Amino acid sequence: MTATDTPLSTSGPTATSQRVAVIGGGASGVLTAINLLVRSDDPSLEVVIHEASGIVGRGIAYGTNDQRHLLNVRARHMSAFPDSPSDLLDWALRTGRSSDPQGFLPRADFAIYLQDRLADVADDRLRVRAGRVQDIVATANGFEIVTERSRSTAAAVVLCHGNQPPRPLRVEGQDLPDAPWHVANPWELSRLRALPADASVVVVGTGLTAVDTVITLLEDSAERKVTMLSRRGRLPKPHVGQAHTAWVTKVPEGPLSADGLAEAVADECRAAAERGVGWRAVVDGLRPATQDLWRRLPHAERVRFLQVHAREWEVRRHRMAPDVALRLQRYRYEGRLAIRAGTLADVVDRGQRCQVTTDPAGVYDVDAIVNCTGPLADVRESQDPLLRSLLARGAAGPDPLALGLDATDDGRLRGADGRVVDGAYVVGPPRKGTLWESTAIPEIRAQAAQVAAAVVERTSRRSLAN
Ligand SMILES: Cc1cc2nc3c(=O)[nH]c(=O)nc-3n(C[C@H](O)[C@H](O)[C@H](O)COP(=O)(O)OP(=O)(O)OC[C@H]3O[C@@H](n4cnc5c(N)ncnc54)[C@H](O)[C@@H]3O)c2cc1C
Repeated sequence: MTATDTPLSTSGPTATSQRVAVIGGGASGVLTAINLLVRSDDPSLEVVIHEASGIVGRGIAYGTNDQRHLLNVRARHMSAFPDSPSDLLDWALRTGRSSDPQGFLPRADFAIYLQDRLADVADDRLRVRAGRVQDIVATANGFEIVTERSRSTAAAVVLCHGNQPPRPLRVEGQDLPDAPWHVANPWELSRLRALPADASVVVVGTGLTAVDTVITLLEDSAERKVTMLSRRGRLPKPHVGQAHTAWVTKVPEGPLSADGLAEAVADECRAAAERGVGWRAVVDGLRPATQDLWRRLPHAERVRFLQVHAREWEVRRHRMAPDVALRLQRYRYEGRLAIRAGTLADVVDRGQRCQVTTDPAGVYDVDAIVNCTGPLADVRESQDPLLRSLLARGAAGPDPLALGLDATDDGRLRGADGRVVDGAYVVGPPRKGTLWESTAIPEIRAQAAQVAAAVVERTSRRSLAN
């Protein structure tokens, strides 16, 4: 579904219309819009998705056009609807894509699924507007939505702006310059594909985005070589075939500390292992309780968790598909992929190429350095015009851990003064600081349903009052 923009328009709700502006048309925005349309039969509801690219359903995660980039969650856990767990599987079967519930679909297919699901419920209350929202200003009746080319009003807004590009790579306090060898945004696949067939590349980061980057680089040409670099040099763990799917992970009771929680999980893994059940089932078994555990951790303990235990949790929780893990193993065996623990110590510009020095010592003459350090979380460092405007006015603020935006547990945006911004909501990755688990579809679909229910209730109250 693409945009039906109204250039240079200044438009507002009619006397009776209840317009909801959804900012961002990635997975979070689409799932929110679907829930709004399904939950309300009010003809005065208008749902406007503002999407910078004009194409909904993709966002960063599902915007890849490399079919070798797979979902990192099994198809049976990626349904758009929590109360219809087989929805994606049924769609994949019907459209001839896959019949394997344990399988990992190409991520680009998931974008098509979201687009199809939105099309199924779309009626004349839905509009998609192309363009980046630059600011949202509270007014007496709601909000003014400002883009480069238009201004419009809305009774409520749902921020679904998602993941941001990574924090710039820095050496000795200086951002790396714009240069032919510097790929600052790893999701710009055209930059990777334009590299020489025999390119040598340093990929900074060893998370799931780095893994995607390696696959695009090394599958496209057998002559390329990649060195992955991260502080600990640890890849995500792979998923494995599920021999044991059901393990009821014991959730610790009473006061919680970060170390105590890590110890409790380790104990549980040992107990599972004694019964022949792998740690993956323990980690997965904690998923429904994770947000609650996070809420129960005092602030100082959350800080400690981030400092000491987060990476260990991430590599186990955000796993890669088995096919992807096999590809990486093969590249290493062929001598085309090396994984190093260390940091960037120096980068010297050599025109079309650069020389990278790492700490501990390593020197690499390469065609490119790719920033795969993961989405930037700290909104205070964001270059995004919308976030900068909202933060500058105190209309939004970082959560206490600066992992995203401050919001209530049920998704209402808080201003910098901690007060709830009436009529403004947040769905998806920006809620990581308050919920910890807030970036994957199983959490996003639940948030989208909850926020949409609150918005529909609000707009129907206003509708009755008009
Ligand atoms: C590479 C990658 C792979 C992932 N794979 C999986 C997976 O397999 N399974 C899983 O469950 N999760 C996965 N995730 C987690 C991911 O966070 C979510 O699944 C989901 O894609 C988040 O969607 P989103 O819409 O919140 O954010 P995004 O995908 O970042 O989309 C945000 C959208 O908002 C638009 N936008 C932003 N700001 C504005 C603005 N001011 N005005 C207008 N438009 C704006 C952007 O153009 C973009 O389209 C992955 C994440 C990444 C980064």
